Amino acid sequence: MRTETAILYTLPHDPLTGAVSVPIYQTSTFEQEAPGVNRGFDYSRTNNPTRQAFEELLAALEGGTRGIAFSSGLAAVDAVLKLLSSGDEVVAVDDIYGGTYRALHTIYDRFGITVKHVDTSDVASVLEAITPRTRLIWLETPTNPTLKVSDIRAIASIAQAARALLLVDNTFCSPVAQQPLKLGADIVLHSITKYIAGHSDVIGGGIVVKDEELGRRIRYIQNATGAVLGPQDSWLAIRGAQTLHLRYERISASAQRVAEFLHGHPDVAGVNYPGLRSHPGHLVARAQNAGGQFGGVISFWLKDDREEHAVELVGHTALVTLAESLGGVKSLVCVPGRMTHASVPRDARRAAGIHDSLVRLSIGLEHPDDLIADLGQALAKVKERSTEKIPA
Ligand SMILES: *Cc1c(COP(=O)(O)O)cnc(C)c1O
Repeated sequence: MRTETAILYTLPHDPLTGAVSVPIYQTSTFEQEAPGVNRGFDYSRTNNPTRQAFEELLAALEGGTRGIAFSSGLAAVDAVLKLLSSGDEVVAVDDIYGGTYRALHTIYDRFGITVKHVDTSDVASVLEAITPRTRLIWLETPTNPTLKVSDIRAIASIAQAARALLLVDNTFCSPVAQQPLKLGADIVLHSITKYIAGHSDVIGGGIVVKDEELGRRIRYIQNATGAVLGPQDSWLAIRGAQTLHLRYERISASAQRVAEFLHGHPDVAGVNYPGLRSHPGHLVARAQNAGGQFGGVISFWLKDDREEHAVELVGHTALVTLAESLGGVKSLVCVPGRMTHASVPRDARRAAGIHDSLVRLSIGLEHPDDLIADLGQALAKVKERSTEKIPA
């Protein structure tokens, strides 16, 4: 049975009524038959039937033994970092998600945890960064917003030799395109907010592990610190996840077309999209990626590499909405230098490949012809205005 069939097949019917849609168990507590004797649930921070249904679905999607659902992606990040102790070191991808960077560098640094950022698309630099204190390797592949690709299998063997845990933040790929546990990772993390819930209507996070003891430790941290996904939001996540395969397939096909359009456009200097043959990580992405689906996130920069041109461009798109986030049914656009990565100094941004005019797209479910037409007219307007400005 293929994953998508298995997931739908195993989603539980309500044992009480046979309801085909998992009910929203909006309750904080559960009746006990005798003190300490319950029907599997006692208090909703510890466990809730709606959340449990989503957690089982998430574990099935990633091929793990346990899924744990959090109140946000960053709450999941936080729970993993609580596995560490003072003096431990983390080796992390250099253009790591901004919120994860903030947690590591403004909160966990005060607890004696140090981080080394390396370009993980270069396996040798990961190896060099390892010390006897390295406990955790943190990957995102592809990264945000430059879409750099790292070799999960190669880095998993480095992690194993170093007795460090390998975590892959799999938000961009979703389990449809990439299942890191099968490539040797120990922990998979998701911002459920993005592709899995998929409709820009819920904030949630998730962790999946294959080792049962590690799963118990993370579950313990979650129950001890409390960042759980509520029943309503769990239901929305279940609802979204049931169409993940369809959405991701369509979004990837559309994004490939949009990336090719941008790649051939005379005003575009470069396009980051792992589905393009010209992308340096194309072959690695293809090898670790099921069915050659490369997702919906594309970034590109302009020949005339000035930030005001990127700002102007996103002001001219009509169909594509200017907003942070990604992975929803509606296409979104943002200027990372001004928005998601504004807190990174300009020199550091440029060193990380974030050009001044870099624009990031999250492709949704609109028809690709319409998206291409919208981006084409916006690019033409930027061109028109910049030629007007050149004095005769
Ligand atoms: C959005 C995102 C997060 C954080 O998730 P929230 O649900 O916003 O807390 C973490 N990692 C990646 C790659 C993301 O895109």
